[in-house]
Amino acid sequence: MSNLEISQELDQKDLTRLRVLECVRNEKEISRIDIATALKISPATVTSVSADLLSAGLVAEVRGDQESKSGIGKRGRPRTMLKLNADAHKIAGLKIARRAIYVLITDFEGEKLASYEHPLDTVTMSPDELAQYAYEAVKHACDKTDFTIEDISCVALGVPGQVNPNENYVHWSSSLTKRDVAMGQVLDRWFTCPVFVENDANLVAKAEHRFGEGRGFNTFIVVTIEHGVGLGIVLDGHLYSGHRGCGAELGHMKVQLNGALCQCGQRGCLEAYVGEYALMREVSVAGSAEKMSSVADITKSAKAGNPLAQSILERAGQMFGMGIGNLINLFDPERIILSGAQVDFDHLHSQHVMDSIKRSVVNESTPLPEICVHRWHEDMVTKGAAAYGIEQVSKIKIKQVVSDAA
Ligand SMILES: [Zn+2]
Repeated sequence: MSNLEISQELDQKDLTRLRVLECVRNEKEISRIDIATALKISPATVTSVSADLLSAGLVAEVRGDQESKSGIGKRGRPRTMLKLNADAHKIAGLKIARRAIYVLITDFEGEKLASYEHPLDTVTMSPDELAQYAYEAVKHACDKTDFTIEDISCVALGVPGQVNPNENYVHWSSSLTKRDVAMGQVLDRWFTCPVFVENDANLVAKAEHRFGEGRGFNTFIVVTIEHGVGLGIVLDGHLYSGHRGCGAELGHMKVQLNGALCQCGQRGCLEAYVGEYALMREVSVAGSAEKMSSVADITKSAKAGNPLAQSILERAGQMFGMGIGNLINLFDPERIILSGAQVDFDHLHSQHVMDSIKRSVVNESTPLPEICVHRWHEDMVTKGAAAYGIEQVSKIKIKQVVSDAA
């Protein structure tokens, strides 16, 4: 099942059900009358929609001890509140990294039930191998719990590269040996539950929006710095992924005509100047006498005064600053979040980079958007993946309850 098929099936009533469910999710516990006020819909609609959500098992009723926020209702009498039914579904969020597959299993509220790191002995693999590793990783994660992989309602997978989430289709990924893969279909051969595939940076943007540095912001940009450079754009509160679903590729923005060769096969991409592999390539081309085998090594050597290491980082910073300046010119975001896990990226938010950004921004008289740095562990992607899985399973179940009732 693809995201596009699910979205096309949803009618106006389903969308109202989703809005009510989202409202309950955000508020933890809320009365029907407060939902009506918050969403500006009639109490009768809320009553009918909550009956649907209760029969779908997605929400549960609890006795609240507080008065309604709107003040309507009798003082002192406990109110019936709605909350999510955490046990309704178990979701697996996955991230494919270079050396491991990370899994996070959550309940329907997004609370962690188990996590697991499945080592990979290869960086690139065939689609079938990837699907098999993903299945094994989820199975191992389930082995740490009292439930089995058959109890999982939905799997969502974050992969690096160009992904069309509407079709679960991977145009290109640094993790795959093949291009143009209907990855959803390959995964369906392993998993019995619905599986969804998204770009990993988009899932970071989702996680930043829900739990991280993007909370409370409507228009912001997340730049992920790992082995490559990823981008997630949130516009007016929604993740933007382009008409074909695979937009927002900062790493492959061209910054140099006929420039350095990128791992995507084209030339002059930003990533070919700032990605970890690009920096390592420069070290080897220059034939450095000093052994530098990671970005952390280059950073250390630069701090110790090695001119080669300094010039490599300086150029990477200049190119990165130009790329961020272009983003500001295009989107005018409230905030830019530089978000990364393991790769050392101090050189990408130095004063030198900020100066490079300022030089690239057209409107020099207005202050730059706030640029903040968020370091995390791999769980930022798996949390985003689980959140995406929860959204998808909600849509599927809402559609099902209505067709059951019809
Ligand atoms: Zn490229």
